Order: sequence, then structure tokens, then C-alpha cells
Amino acid sequence: MAASREAHAPATAFAFFGSQGGREALPIRIIEEKCTGCKLCIPACPYGGVDVEDKLARLNERCTFCGACISACTFDAIVADVVRKENVDASQYRGVWVIAEHRHGNLAGVTLELLGEGRKLAQQLGTDVSLALLGNSVDGLVDRAAAYGADRIYLVQDPVLATYRTAPYADVMCGLINTHKPEIVLIGATTMGRDLASRIAARIGAGLTADCTGLDINEDTGLLHQTRPAYGGTIMATILCEQARPQMATVRPKVMRKGDEEPGRKAEVHDVPVELTEKSVATRIVEVVRSSGPAVDLQEAEIIVSGGRGLRSADNFSLIEELAETLGGVVGASRATVDAEWIPAYHQVGQTGKTVQPRLYIACGISGAVQHLAGMQSSDCIVAINNDPDAPIFRAAHYGICGDLFEVVPALTRRLQQELGG
Ligand SMILES: Cc1cc2nc3c(=O)[nH]c(=O)nc-3n(C[C@H](O)[C@H](O)[C@H](O)COP(=O)(O)OP(=O)(O)OC[C@H]3O[C@@H](n4cnc5c(N)ncnc54)[C@H](O)[C@@H]3O)c2cc1C
Repeated sequence: MAASREAHAPATAFAFFGSQGGREALPIRIIEEKCTGCKLCIPACPYGGVDVEDKLARLNERCTFCGACISACTFDAIVADVVRKENVDASQYRGVWVIAEHRHGNLAGVTLELLGEGRKLAQQLGTDVSLALLGNSVDGLVDRAAAYGADRIYLVQDPVLATYRTAPYADVMCGLINTHKPEIVLIGATTMGRDLASRIAARIGAGLTADCTGLDINEDTGLLHQTRPAYGGTIMATILCEQARPQMATVRPKVMRKGDEEPGRKAEVHDVPVELTEKSVATRIVEVVRSSGPAVDLQEAEIIVSGGRGLRSADNFSLIEELAETLGGVVGASRATVDAEWIPAYHQVGQTGKTVQPRLYIACGISGAVQHLAGMQSSDCIVAINNDPDAPIFRAAHYGICGDLFEVVPALTRRLQQELGG
């Protein structure tokens, strides 16, 4: 890559690389009057893209326009004008990317789900799927990512990336995206993904659709159709990003299905060198404290028995607990019961609760409002127990029992206890 930096750009002129090699320039200005040559920007740049010569910062040919130097400059001497990516040449952008999330040496389930979804989109577009894998000593995750659909892996390893922190992850990701220009970028709608995706999108001037429940490619335009609930879940909106690139979306865990694992499948691995220093990161992880909350992990549960307002009181959740325990499952709840303080919020399933995908979901006294369905409708088998034959939950259910839950649930529990040997 040949740099064509203005050697002596006039004060406040854009000091950016031209559109060499098809790269679109992102104007980063160095305001000469303000730059003191303090060198704070040098360790801040993950790519070694800044030099200081004659007490003046200069961007060199390694600059990826990630913007890390801007945040690091305490003299406001490095600035980027608002990025407007209108009329971007979309033909320069190719490939579907997934940003990996991992914890305790394992790829997060949502990353595997997005690789599966990414493969589907890539096939529609006739392109491939890449995974951006950032961390420290994470090369052991490469084979699993390949087995679940990654064709190419951008592996960025550095001790500073060991635990997720917004700034260094965003700096590295913006650099990768500006350099490789993916057409689509998918991230899990997790605590990390929501934080990172918005930072990247704002920095590179891309659009971002949060919490998508469906993704598809329009055959005629090749645009990504990003569907998500809107207006409190009363409608499903399909959102297009016609002008900016990449098209970015976050997707909640358990909304998409993992692809089939293909052990032995290989991916092309690109080691991306970065130069990161702790000194350049403003935040420190002091301690990681495990939540003292519940042991219930709805999103990993294979069996969920959920209770709704039909239970009439908090005490009656004991019926749900007994059935869940008999089946070796966990207890879920509708928002109505959480709002009524019958059960803590971490049991809530739905649009504003957890999205779940168990093998068996039993809904007891739940009407089946769209916001509840949004969180459980991709369960493998749904059983609904409700005394209203017109309850919408029956339309989503594979099996329905129309009756009084105060009779049906204890009878079911007793029968299962007999069948399962107590
Ligand atoms: C922005 C927004 C986000 C939301 N997010 C969520 C969410 O994440 N999760 C969620 O669940 N809701 C959510 N809601 C609320 C949602 O719209 C419904 O109000 C809620 O799901 C209703 O809960 P329910 O089914 O328990 O209660 P109801 O709708 O009151 O249904 C109770 C059901 O119990 C049945 N019943 C009554 N007595 C018996 C009996 N003896 N035996 C059998 N059946 C009986 C009734 O026929 C009825 O169908 C959200 C709403 C909004 C606006």
C-alpha cells in the first residue's frame, strides 16, 4: 500500500491518505497549532500508524483510520469530521464478517449462530464468511470457528485484548473494517456486542440495526434485509442500509440456529499484528465478580416451564417449579408476572427478557402476546396450557392443552413423576 501523505499539509488541512488501492479516505485532520508533539497518539494507535516528527504528529502509511489517535489526543489536535458515507461505492465492499465473542476459552454460542447465519447470507451473495477473532491466546478457537462456517479468520492477539474493553476492541475493529471493507458485519446483541457495535458504527459512519430477528438478502438489489420488532413489538420492521457500508446488524443469542458442525473443516487464518499498550487504554479491569444472582440460565436450558398471569399469584409459581423440576428444566415467566413482582426479572422470556430456544417450552397461563412469542417461538417443541381456546399462544404451539392450569399442571407433574420414576 503506497502512502501519499501530504508531507507539509497546511494547518487544519486534511492530512489523510487518498483513495489509494481503492481505499476510501477518512479525513483525519491534525491541527498543527494545537499539536504539541507530546507523542500520546503513538502508543494509542494499534497499527503503528502515527509518527511524531519535528514536534508534529503525522499519519503514516500504516494508518487504518481507526480513530484511536483522536481519542488519545488530550490537546484536541487530531480530529475527524463527521463521517458521511453517502454514495459509497458498494462494489468495493465484499464478504460477510462476524465479530467473535468468547469467554473462558470458548466461543460464545451466539458467535456460532452468527457463523451459521453468515454462511447463509454469503451463499446468497456468492461470497465468503470471515471471523474477526480478537483476544489473547485465542488461536485455539480457530478450528471450532472453521468447523462452524468461517472461511477466513482475522486473528488479532495481544495481552491488552485479553478481556473485552470498548476502546482497544473498537480501535482494532475499525482498522480491520476500514482496511478490508466487508459488505456485512454481524455481532451478537450481548452486553459486549451492543457496546462494541454502536461504537464501531458511529466511528466508521455505518448504519446499525440492533436486535435483528431475521436477516435475508434481496435477490435484486443484494441489500441486507434486517428485520426486527418495532413499536413495542407490534410490528416487524425490515430495515435497509442503502448507502453506507458495511451493513451492520446485531442479533440476539438463540434467535438464529447454529449451522451443522463440520469437524476438520479449515479456514484461512490471517495473523494481524497490532501494537497495543496498557498505557493507551483509559480503563482497567480491576476484578471480575461473579453475579450472586440465580443459577437459572434460561438461554442454555433444554427445558423451560413458564408461568403467566393465569397463575393468579406468586405462590402458585410453585406449580411451575414442581413441573420444571420433574422434567429437569428451569422456570421462565411472562412479563406480566414479573411486573406483578411474582417472580424476579431474570426469569422473563420475551422481547425485553431472554430469547430462548429450548428443546421443550411449556407455557402455562400465558396468552402468547407478540412480545412473549418473540422470545420463545423458535423453541423446538412448544406446549401451551390455557383455558381460552382462542389464546394466541395456541397458534405458536405444537401441542395445546385447553383447560384449567390448576388441574392440568399438577396432573401432568404427577403423571411425569410416575413415568420418570419419581
Ligand atoms: C415494549 C413491550 C415489551 C414487552 N416485553 C415482553 C416480554 O419480554 N415478555 C413478555 O412476556 N411480555 C412482554 N410484554 C408484555 C406483553 O405484551 C403481554 O402483556 C404479556 O406477555 C402478557 O403476559 P401473560 O400472557 O402472562 O398475561 P395475559 O396476557 O393476561 O394472559 C394470561 C393468560 O392466562 C390464561 N388463563 C387465565 N386463567 C387460566 C387458568 N386457570 N388456566 C389456564 N389458563 C388461564 C388466560 O386465558 C390468558 O390467555 C411487553 C410489552 C411491551 C409493550
